[in-house]
Amino acid sequence: MASVIDNDIMYLKGVGPKRAELFKKLGINTVRELIYHLPRHYTDFSDVTPIADAVLDEVCAVRVRVVSKERPAMLRKGMTLYRLLVTDGASDMTVTIFNSQYLFDSLETDGDYILYGKITGNFISREMSSPLVLSALSEDKLQPVYPLTAGLTQNVLRKCLKNALAAASPEDVEILPKDILEKSGLMREEIALNLIHFPKSFEDASQARRRLALDELLVLRLGMAELKDRNRRATAYSLKNGDISGFLGALPFDLTGAQKRAISDCVRDMAGGSPMNRLILGDVGSGKTAVAAACCYVAAKNGAQAVMMAPTEILASQHFESLKGFLEPSGVRVGLLIGSMSKKQKTAVYEKCRSGELDVIVGTHALFQAGAEYKRLGLVITDEQHRFGVEQRQRLARKGDNPHRLVMSATPIPRTLALMIYGELDISVLDELPAGRKKIETYAVTGKLRERAYAYIKKYLDDGGQAYIVCPAVEEGEGELMNVADYAEEIKNGFFRDYRIGVLHGQMASSAKEGVMKRFKEHELDILVCTTVVEVGVDVPNATVMLIENADRFGLSQLHQLRGRVGRGERESVCILITDNPSEECRKRMRVISSTASGFEISEADLEIRGPGDFFGYAQHGLPPVRVADLAADKELIDHAQSLAESLRPRLYGEECGQLRRRVYNLFMNGEAMG
Ligand code: ADP
Ligand code: MG
Repeated sequence: MASVIDNDIMYLKGVGPKRAELFKKLGINTVRELIYHLPRHYTDFSDVTPIADAVLDEVCAVRVRVVSKERPAMLRKGMTLYRLLVTDGASDMTVTIFNSQYLFDSLETDGDYILYGKITGNFISREMSSPLVLSALSEDKLQPVYPLTAGLTQNVLRKCLKNALAAASPEDVEILPKDILEKSGLMREEIALNLIHFPKSFEDASQARRRLALDELLVLRLGMAELKDRNRRATAYSLKNGDISGFLGALPFDLTGAQKRAISDCVRDMAGGSPMNRLILGDVGSGKTAVAAACCYVAAKNGAQAVMMAPTEILASQHFESLKGFLEPSGVRVGLLIGSMSKKQKTAVYEKCRSGELDVIVGTHALFQAGAEYKRLGLVITDEQHRFGVEQRQRLARKGDNPHRLVMSATPIPRTLALMIYGELDISVLDELPAGRKKIETYAVTGKLRERAYAYIKKYLDDGGQAYIVCPAVEEGEGELMNVADYAEEIKNGFFRDYRIGVLHGQMASSAKEGVMKRFKEHELDILVCTTVVEVGVDVPNATVMLIENADRFGLSQLHQLRGRVGRGERESVCILITDNPSEECRKRMRVISSTASGFEISEADLEIRGPGDFFGYAQHGLPPVRVADLAADKELIDHAQSLAESLRPRLYGEECGQLRRRVYNLFMNGEAMG
């Protein structure tokens, strides 16, 4: 159903071959793409202030008449200064313009204009330099500001957009079928597009944005669902034997109800004829590793190999230890493969992967590097999934002979959001912590109480416990933010003179990292001063205290993830957050983290408060770009998109969903026919 707006941008009125080249630099090849090139923000010419009331050095809009224009002054070669005197009736002001004769000429004596810019000067003389200018007669008081490229101006873009929108018919752009549109009372797409480019008010713009954001989320959700279907091929590994009693017998604890449910979801999936594609969405400490281990057990008992991939070597080594503990008693052979191993070691492991001498191989990306071959790879597990994007997930899924796939989330997020980000997967939720877990008492204090916090930590250490101190990474450690190395040095020579202190940060060589982690694990160190490298997955049950410096640097979910490093044993655990940020928002966040234990609730609050460094920065990583919607803020839109997606999914191939199908198709399936 191609229409004129799918023509090359070159043919749009006002464009032509030369400008088309510039548009292409912006990624705009067709008229349709221009229509969806959305403004970054708007310049507000509507809210004018009297010159006398303008706050100096802040942007404002003033409505003025040009009184007189001075002769241009050549300051030096290539630098001409133009000056005008303007008045708003009550006060005068000088306007200076550098080099733009065009702008100077466009301002006529006795003409009325709205100028937008910063006013500088003092009480007596005021000046505005290089303002944005709008004729006072113009109706478009909100002027969109677009991402540009050299050679294109805002004006040109606006003109071309007017032409493009005039060329688009409602059917060209509407993606929702009529009945849905009528029932839901949503703004029509065509209107939304006109309003987002040429709003009369911010309210217009915001309504329009909501409609376009909803589209975007709907398309994303449907695209994910489509991918999910495509992953449904035949697998060579139908793992019929789901008896895990041998595994359970060797386990040092009873599984939680949630773990049992997740495992039975997986066992059922793996017994089927098509590959499992499942996400374990679980709170910190909910025991995702044990679920993974159960799946490895099933694979091994059915004669298939399993690999488990982690994002860092520390994590991989730790999973290796855990899986060995869970699986070796029942005769499953577990191996480790990480990048920092010697060539000889790697070759030996590769050989065992190829021959089938190993049943379960834990490692980093090295698991899929050239040289790694498996005899009968039936299950691929990836941990801390947010580090891998959709594309990587797809690539992994294609490894081997359509193996089963299990991914484990690092961040507990609301289910609807998980459906957006991990929508191509089935989801099992671990919303229950193992029995006997104590709440991690969390306190937020200011730096003034640091010494007291130290004294508190000392008590824990003297009791045989261990502590983490989290501070900024090496490269950020400037000014007030002291970095790990300096910090460790200071406490080593000061308060914690009598204790064994180790340092861990991301820039250390992996072998050094491993060494420190091992010493901490074996209690050869009392305090680990570290960066967020400990964020994911590290498991040292004897570490029961954590102190986090500059806690306001982190989003709530990240803080929750961090503090999840303690509270892993049966002992009472404490997390002390130090922040000197006095803002109300920071206080609010500290209150939430101190009073809430559930990661799901915390991520929900995170969505609402949305602090800096919020986790969506990376959770979103790897998703097709979401440009209009805001995964952190548009919670209701996400829910709405989800319900729309459910009702539209069965109709996607109907005639009335042509435009929608096309958008979905363009999102993921470049070049591949859908359907
Ligand atoms: P996460 O879900 O954060 O990856 P882990 O798998 O690392 O959590 O488990 C956290 C700790 O809880 C580990 O020490 C693990 O052995 C332990 N654990 C897991 N399941 C249970 C259970 N059902 N009962 C008691 N301890 C458990
Ligand atoms: Mg984990």
